[in-house]
Amino acid sequence: MANLPTPDFTFDPNAPGACIAGVRPFRNGSYRLDAETDSGKFIVHNYGHGGAGITLSWGCAAKVRDIVQSHLVNSNDKDVAVLGAGVMGMTAATRLLDLGLKVTIFSDRKPAETTSFKAGGQWEFDGKPQYLKHQPRIWTYLNRSLDHPALSGIRAWYAAHVPPPVP
Ligand SMILES: Cc1cc2nc3c(=O)[nH]c(=O)nc-3n(C[C@H](O)[C@H](O)[C@H](O)COP(=O)(O)OP(=O)(O)OC[C@H]3O[C@@H](n4cnc5c(N)ncnc54)[C@H](O)[C@@H]3O)c2cc1C
Repeated sequence: MANLPTPDFTFDPNAPGACIAGVRPFRNGSYRLDAETDSGKFIVHNYGHGGAGITLSWGCAAKVRDIVQSHLVNSNDKDVAVLGAGVMGMTAATRLLDLGLKVTIFSDRKPAETTSFKAGGQWEFDGKPQYLKHQPRIWTYLNRSLDHPALSGIRAWYAAHVPPPVP
């Protein structure tokens, strides 16, 4: 016992760049992906994806784009504020640019400081059976993940190798 080294207690979790682990904030029941109007502002919520945000990001961003596109039928809005520079914010912003909107991203952290940047980043179709079983809409967004032209190269691979959805 006497020969054990003295532990190093100098770690300061509040020091800039000290924390390299992220968290997986999720929402009970499921993530939120819907719209509301508050004080005249049209708002699309897209958060709480827990440990599957990267997997679901492009598909949920496609849904965000659909919702905004429907809103634009009766609106002249051209400016969009995206809150957050993690994977959900960045993919939504990319999709909204496809609609020709002027997109501004607001974030209190840079992209490289977000949970998204620190995550493993795997697309885990088969790793999330609990989601697929209880939340069929997740399968929809997983499928839509490959809608974006930038991802067309892996679409064929998934078609060939990924099993059909869990009933
Ligand atoms: C260790 C680890 C491994 C993971 N591995 C995987 C994986 O393999 N596959 C997978 O699919 N998912 C994985 N995940 C989950 C995935 O990383 C998250 O679901 C996803 O990153 C969440 O993205 P986000 O954009 O919602 O949040 P974040 O990346 O946390 O981004 C949130 C953004 O909002 C901004 N923000 C927050 N509050 C405010 C505020 N009040 N004012 C201004 N800006 C604000 C932040 O600055 C940031 O830009 C992993 C998570 C962790 C922690």
